[in-house]
Amino acid sequence: MRDLSKDKALLSINTATVKQWSLEQVIEGCARHGIGGIAPWRDKLHECGVEKAAKLIKQHGLQVSGLCRGGMFTAADAAGRQKAIEENRRCVDEAVALGAKCLVLVVGGIPAGSKDIVDARQQVRDGIAALLPYARANNMPLAIEPLHPMYAADRACVNTLRQANDICDALGDGVGVAVDIYHLWWDPELEAQIRRAGRRVLAFHVCDWLVPTADLLLDRGMMGDGVIDIPRIRGWVEATGFTGQCEVEIFSANNWWKKDGDEVLRTCIARHQSVV
Ligand code: ZN
Repeated sequence: MRDLSKDKALLSINTATVKQWSLEQVIEGCARHGIGGIAPWRDKLHECGVEKAAKLIKQHGLQVSGLCRGGMFTAADAAGRQKAIEENRRCVDEAVALGAKCLVLVVGGIPAGSKDIVDARQQVRDGIAALLPYARANNMPLAIEPLHPMYAADRACVNTLRQANDICDALGDGVGVAVDIYHLWWDPELEAQIRRAGRRVLAFHVCDWLVPTADLLLDRGMMGDGVIDIPRIRGWVEATGFTGQCEVEIFSANNWWKKDGDEVLRTCIARHQSVV
């Protein structure tokens, strides 16, 4: 079994972790610190330019553990849902251009004016089904990322790994899951659902859950500063035969985003070795 901790080659930095840096800076920073991977968000990617980013990432020998993000399939009307599919095809193209391991999907919440979460979840399933032939044709795996239930209304109405696995079972090849411990650590079914996902685990995102949490979006903790038993979950992921990297994704407006980017990366490496 591969050990996802300790080896910097198996560490990836999500650009959200060092939001204070441009994509160029994150690429250079990861290379400078000997980190093996990167996971860009599309806003940073577009600032840099897809072609240039792809070239720089390749030049610096980094793997792309995922592109953040596609998804947002839900909308108030059919035209809005169609627009979302078209945008997601562009996401697939960009993920292919970067050689990403997967396109991460944050699936979308409840459309404005609706109170129907059952319908929203059906829209998500239909949206992924509509995108899937294009993703398959381009050999780009789709990774459904279940988000913590507190985001069900505005970001993602897929909130457990069981729900994501159900969608994968229904849709077949080309779609898997992203296991983000911030969103899933509390779930009593987590071990069983990671086992069920098996080879469909396409991404592994780490940070920590702080107590107390000051802000439910932008106060994620560095690994080791919170309550998540990270090695235990890592073990479950490794047992699936996961071949990706350990991606650090920390949204931290009042702490890590205010620090020097090199200090953030040094801390990520140290905690990856001592905590993950
Ligand atoms: Zn994530």
